[in-house]
Amino acid sequence: MTGDLIQRGVELIQASNKILVFVGAGLSTESGIPDFRSPGGVWDKYDPSDFYFQRIVSSESAREKYWQMSTEFWDTMKDAVPSRGHFAILKLEAMGKLNGIVTQNIDNLHHKTGNAPENIVEIHGNAFTVSCLSCGKQYDRGLIQERLRSGVKVPYCDDCSGILKPDTVSFGQSMPEDKMTKAYRLAEECDLCIVLGSSLVVYPAAYIPIHAVEKGAKLMIINREETGLDSKAALVVHDSIGKVFGEMVDMVSRAGAA
Ligand code: NAD
Ligand code: ZN
Repeated sequence: MTGDLIQRGVELIQASNKILVFVGAGLSTESGIPDFRSPGGVWDKYDPSDFYFQRIVSSESAREKYWQMSTEFWDTMKDAVPSRGHFAILKLEAMGKLNGIVTQNIDNLHHKTGNAPENIVEIHGNAFTVSCLSCGKQYDRGLIQERLRSGVKVPYCDDCSGILKPDTVSFGQSMPEDKMTKAYRLAEECDLCIVLGSSLVVYPAAYIPIHAVEKGAKLMIINREETGLDSKAALVVHDSIGKVFGEMVDMVSRAGAA
C-alpha cells in the first residue's frame, strides 16, 4: 500500500518545480531529537506554561527552570547529525526543485545538512546562539552551556548584565517578521508544499501550508499521525519520513538520471 503512495508522491514531485518543504519536529526524531507531542516527548516531562516568555523575563526562578529544560534539550541537539529525510531535501535542492525550507525546528540541522542558507527559513529561530534581551550581544551557545556546566544557574550578559535567552521563539514571544514575510512569500510562490513531521497545531507556523493551498499549491503530508490539514492534501502518508520521503526523492532522482 505504501508503495502506491510513494509512487503518487514521486509523480507529484516530478510535476513540481517550486517545492516548499514545511518542516516540524518529526523530521528530526530520526536524528535522535525528541519531538514535543509524541509519547515521551518534551511536553510529557515539562509544563509548557513554565516557559512563556513573560515568565522567563519576569522571574529568576522561571529562568532557572527554563535553562534546566533547555540544557536537556540542547544535549540531545548539539551533536545531532542530519537524517535521511534531511538529505532528501538536499537532493531536491540539487535537482533545482526546491523553492525553500520553512522549518519550525531550532536544531540547526538544515545548515548541518548543507542546504543553501538562503533556502532555510527558521521561523522559530536557532538554538545554537544566545542573545542578550537588553543590548543584543550574541553568544555562541556552547560558551553559555559551559558556564551552566560550571555551576552558574542563570547566565547574564557580560556587557550589561541583561537577561540571556537562546535565539528561539518562546510561547508568548513575537514571531520574527522578516522570516514570516519570507515564509509567506515562499508559500505563495510554490507549486507543491510538502509537510514533513509536523502536527500542524502550532500557530502561526501552521498558517504557512494553509496559505500555500489557498494560493493554489498542491499539498503532500508525511506524518506518522493525522493532522488537521489531511483532508486538504493531494497525498497523505502516515509513516516514517526517512523511509517514505527518502524513497520518493531517490526514485525521482533515479528517474531523472535515466
Ligand atoms: P510536534 O511535536 O507537534 O509534531 C511532530 C509530529 O511529527 C507528530 O505529529 C509526530 O507524529 C510526527 N513524527 C515524529 N517523528 C516522525 C517520523 N520519524 N516520521 C513521520 N512523522 C513523525 O512538532 P511541531 O509541529 O514541529 O511543533 C512543535 C514545536 O516544537 C515547534 O514549534 C518546534 O519549534 C519545536 N520543536 C523543535 C524541535 C527541533 O528543533 N528538532 C524538537 C521539538 C520541538
Ligand atoms: Zn547585554
